[in-house]
Amino acid sequence: MPRTKKPAKRTTAARTKPKRPTKAELPAHARVILRGLKKDYPVAVCELTHESPFQLLAATILSAQCTDARVNMTTPALFAAYPTAQAMALADIAHVEQLVKSTGFYASKAKNLIGMANAVMSRFGGEVPTAIEDLVTLPGVGRKTANVVRSVVFDLPGLPVDTHVLRLSKRLGLTREEDPVKVEHELNALLPPKEWGEFSLRLILHGRRICDARKPKCGECRLASLCPSRQ
Ligand code: SF4
Repeated sequence: MPRTKKPAKRTTAARTKPKRPTKAELPAHARVILRGLKKDYPVAVCELTHESPFQLLAATILSAQCTDARVNMTTPALFAAYPTAQAMALADIAHVEQLVKSTGFYASKAKNLIGMANAVMSRFGGEVPTAIEDLVTLPGVGRKTANVVRSVVFDLPGLPVDTHVLRLSKRLGLTREEDPVKVEHELNALLPPKEWGEFSLRLILHGRRICDARKPKCGECRLASLCPSRQ
């Protein structure tokens, strides 16, 4: 009778989760993650519809607590009525509120849109500024929005940290920080500036498709072999 082979024992490496990278290992860890994300998401583009820096700035303000798809349903009518900072600065707030109502928090968003447009007109000659120090002085604009505008329309270094980037960075062992600004600085230190914007976009895509907040699909995740949080 043929002897049956004992099933091979699963190795310890196969059973155990990858360890968190040490500080010294972090740059290499980040590069491997970047390579993996590039394979799964070769094209990383901002999904907010826009035709100018002003329109992307306005759309990003509207995207707070709202999906890109919902914002993209709202902005055609908004930009038809107020396509530029000059037009938005003179807008009637009740009309803007009505146009952006479906994005939520519409009263403060309408106020910020008109305030942002007025600031762009009065302090920056009608042109959206490119420096992060200037962008964050505009109403409704924090570092995340400023970095979206810098990286997407100006092709400047900028790594927006939204809820997906924050969650995935922690799960993947790239940071232990909770504060988005600290996370941004830590990630910036690990990757070349030219990669910052698309790294953020790719993490967002991975967060939406695979690494869900409640039910991450670790079995389908290309990064599972190096993720200390894999389930
Ligand atoms: S899906 Fe799982 S393995 Fe992949 S990054 Fe998220 S937690 Fe890690």
